[in-house]
Amino acid sequence: MFTAFSQGLNKIISADNVQNYKDVFLCPNPTCSAKLTLRAVNSSIVSPHFACSPNHPHAPNCLFGLLEDIRGGENENCIKSDIMTILNSSSLKASSPRVMNSSNKPMHAKKYIRTAKQLLNYCLSNDLSTDYTNGLTVGDIVLDSRNLLENKNYKGLDGIRLLSGQTVKYCEKDKYIKISVSTRTSTNKRIWIDALVYLPLEWIRKITSYLLNTPPKQFSGHPIAVLAQWRKDKDYQISTVVTKESNVIYRFIHE
Ligand SMILES: [Zn+2]
Repeated sequence: MFTAFSQGLNKIISADNVQNYKDVFLCPNPTCSAKLTLRAVNSSIVSPHFACSPNHPHAPNCLFGLLEDIRGGENENCIKSDIMTILNSSSLKASSPRVMNSSNKPMHAKKYIRTAKQLLNYCLSNDLSTDYTNGLTVGDIVLDSRNLLENKNYKGLDGIRLLSGQTVKYCEKDKYIKISVSTRTSTNKRIWIDALVYLPLEWIRKITSYLLNTPPKQFSGHPIAVLAQWRKDKDYQISTVVTKESNVIYRFIHE
């Protein structure tokens, strides 16, 4: 991964910008206690990046940990669909379904980004400044613990975003699930935004049934990501109506 929370600077930092090599680096996910070390500082082949130290691994439900094997160096071989196509198209089939876990694939295999899950994989394994398509960077697309404080994103925003956060609760009566994205601040407070995701009841039941049967066997605290057109309801709350099932990503581990 290319981003971490610097304890010395009390903020999220890119591996490229580290000046104090003795600093302590934490996972950007505030619910994860992983400690990270900077790697490949002097390498001409691999970009500087963070990896967690064996004694301080990622929490089992931390997406950064689940994605740690994936390197951004494969970018040149990515064939990327633009974000509107991923958001709306229903006909494209997901390719390379093993992308989340494959660590032994050939270095130059072509990789497609045609689904929200593949886009999430790309966004979480690359730095926020990495270009995606059409002038958009990863930081313009994703909203997660790394860029929640930028532009006061935690107060709410309108537009298309891939939110990556955690489940909070669900409501069958009003047909939504609530997720939140949180981060650490420089004063070590936790700050978060709530996001209400309105879905058909059938999909809510499918999601809850999966999460309630996945450790820790409760609805809250699971990683979840939603690609959608969001609108700001009020300060610290946004909402969306999802009409494409694969734009809600919640199966990461037990596949
Ligand atoms: Zn983590």
